Amino acid sequence: MQAEKKDIRALTKEQLRDFFVKEGDKAFRGNQVYEWLWQKGAHSFEAMTNLSKPTRQMLEDNFVINHIKVDLMQRSSDGTIKNAVRLHDDLIVESVLIPTDTRTTACVSSQVGCSLDCKFCATARLKRMRNLNPDEIYDQVVAIDNESRLYFSRPLSNIVFMGMGEPLMNYNNVLKAIDKITSEEGLGMSPRRITVSTSGVPKMIKKMADDEVKFKLAVSLHSALDDVRTSIMPFNSTFPLQDLREALEYWYSKTKSRITYEYVVWSGINDKRKDVEALVRFCRFAPSKVNLIEYNPIDDGAFQQADESAIKLYQEILERNGITVTVRRSRGKDIDAACGQLANKS
Ligand code: SAH
Repeated sequence: MQAEKKDIRALTKEQLRDFFVKEGDKAFRGNQVYEWLWQKGAHSFEAMTNLSKPTRQMLEDNFVINHIKVDLMQRSSDGTIKNAVRLHDDLIVESVLIPTDTRTTACVSSQVGCSLDCKFCATARLKRMRNLNPDEIYDQVVAIDNESRLYFSRPLSNIVFMGMGEPLMNYNNVLKAIDKITSEEGLGMSPRRITVSTSGVPKMIKKMADDEVKFKLAVSLHSALDDVRTSIMPFNSTFPLQDLREALEYWYSKTKSRITYEYVVWSGINDKRKDVEALVRFCRFAPSKVNLIEYNPIDDGAFQQADESAIKLYQEILERNGITVTVRRSRGKDIDAACGQLANKS
């Protein structure tokens, strides 16, 4: 019986070079294969056209490429693209390409499902199956980069970790993926174009600060009052706002990098003056900006987007207090590709 073939992508560039030397070939072949795997996103040895046929066959005999596969690509009327991505064990995650006039942003997943239980998020209804490995995260980015070049004639410009899962609960793999995305041997992207979004795990925010990461941090705040936040994001009872606040102060003292708070205003939940005032106080602890995001309904209407006047109230009071506010319209709603709608419906 044939021994099980190894995933070639588990090999470092050095190991690939060694492999070719052992096969009596030049170490340089290792670089070529590495480039095919990591820069050109090759899914098969067949595609590695600058290698001879026998070399490709030899690789085929020894290795597999455990690549993700885009199972289904849906395009929204606003240009947004959603990929359903099949992993080697047949689990599915979703990632999204969001085009604007000037940018193409990839929204990628970090876990299959999610262990948090935010009441307003569709992904929370899938239980967490497993963490994605670094390659699976990296591959989502490459797939979107390719789509961006194909459909919009430009490379991907930004990445947000706002797909399925809680990136800080899969921190090591997210970090490894970002290392590859930013390294010259990968995509060579600037870390300043990458944002990791977290529901706020204080210990991990401190760890990120200690690691001196260069990407940006966004926190899904949604309320600066503990009782309200716990009612919509129950894990807030384990990581209350006081702990989050301390971690964010620490983050800023170490990185000097401004924090973005993501915030949805819901009718009857956080649409009162006291909610805004609490947010203003929270924003004082570290330089920050607030991103008011549109609610994307996921069900029968337990949550409803607050009306314009509540959004205006937020905008007015925040701005009066010198806090930058942006109001973000959702994209890709018609294909369930907007924030909080990723739930493998198709
Ligand atoms: N777990 C991470 C990243 C995934 S969620 C986090 O919590 O940040 C990405 C963003 O979408 C978060 O800001 C989240 O609060 C928001 N979100 C979740 N469900 C939503 C919904 N139904 N409508 C609008 N935004 C939503």
